[in-house]
Amino acid sequence: MPDFIPAALLILVAQQPRLQVLIGKRASDQRSFPDHWTFPGGKLDPEDGPESELGSFLSCALRETAEEVGIVIDVQAKIHDLGWRVTPPFSPKRFETRYFLHELPEAMPLGVLSPELSEAIWIEPAALLQRWQRGLLRLPPPIRGILAELAVSGLDLSALKNLENDREHLYSDLELHPGIEVIPLRTPTLLPATHTNCALIGGPQFLIVDPASPYPEEQALLQARIAARQARGDRPVAIVLTHHHVDHVSGARALSEALELPIQAHAQTSALLTGQLEISQEISDGFRWQLGADPATGQSWDVEALFTPGHAPGHLCLIDLRHRVAHVGDMLAGIGSILIDPSDGDMGQYLDSLKKLEAAQLHSAIPSHGPILQDPSASCRQYYRHRLNREEKVLAALASGPLAERALLEQVYVDTDSRAWPLARRSLQAHLLKLRQEQRVIQIGEAWSLTD
Ligand SMILES: [Zn+2]
Repeated sequence: MPDFIPAALLILVAQQPRLQVLIGKRASDQRSFPDHWTFPGGKLDPEDGPESELGSFLSCALRETAEEVGIVIDVQAKIHDLGWRVTPPFSPKRFETRYFLHELPEAMPLGVLSPELSEAIWIEPAALLQRWQRGLLRLPPPIRGILAELAVSGLDLSALKNLENDREHLYSDLELHPGIEVIPLRTPTLLPATHTNCALIGGPQFLIVDPASPYPEEQALLQARIAARQARGDRPVAIVLTHHHVDHVSGARALSEALELPIQAHAQTSALLTGQLEISQEISDGFRWQLGADPATGQSWDVEALFTPGHAPGHLCLIDLRHRVAHVGDMLAGIGSILIDPSDGDMGQYLDSLKKLEAAQLHSAIPSHGPILQDPSASCRQYYRHRLNREEKVLAALASGPLAERALLEQVYVDTDSRAWPLARRSLQAHLLKLRQEQRVIQIGEAWSLTD
């Protein structure tokens, strides 16, 4: 169980001449939520007081507001408490944030901005949401949900308080990008990840990607989210699997039966699932799902399949072509790392697929495990370099003579915790098989050596 980081935030609302909120854009170099628009706030500081007292959170919210945008609100002022928001479990860093709201008669001029922010503005919630709908800016889901509520109902404090969630319950709003809802489901996956990101991609017609969980309560959670979409008039059209691994496909049959939906996957995924799960339609590279028109712009809403084998033979990424945001399955990870296991993975193919994904020039990416990735091309380059560095270490170790796998493991993974060695060993084998295929190493008996 992760530690929850206590934090607080203040929503400043001005009613005249129209309802506006004060919101800032976090600087690109910030570790949490870079380039995202959010209300002033931050982590609880010891000077704010003990975590056990609500007053400490209020002090924190007011201090952060003064520091970030130079607006000082008196602690005696009328400040509304909007309850907690807890980061969903896809994030390795989870905040437990107390939300407050203070109403001003009119928009107050801003002071000097802190370096944490690149800009801050007073704006009508609907205007900001419109820009978000077009993919022009980033909003964390709980902030988006609040803006949507303000845009629809005006300042209704009890409705805003109702958006509260806790450690056991997800936000009511999980749209990480317009038209892409991400539901982290608990699965039997590889630590440190504990959840797999199932995604609903689309609007009036949508795809369900990786209904991953074998656990009935998680399947019920997913079905409830889908039912909520159906109640709004949206319709699921297919279940799509990124690849055949157990932490991606385990809820597919139950969901397919419950909703009478086809299951789609790559032919190689279909072959690997023979006898376990029947795939209704095989999807190959470049396949396009046409999901009608984007209600925000009227433009066509197409999603394209990108074949990216390596982690698994039939691995697909799904690119929402409107804003080039993709579900990238197990190509990249927001938490932990990607395992290339030689039993069904291929290091050479994986490296080629990283190049292909980098060339797709994505705006952002939803990995199967961990939070959204803001610069997927940079992640692809970093992953590629990391694997090549490892490969160079293998070649350097063998330069001084033949070595058995165990000795090679100790030299090449000297920087890795020995508890991770069973997985590192499989990764090493994947590197060796790639190098053997390229005729750069050979195996004689137990020993590996360079070819020349
Ligand atoms: Zn996998």
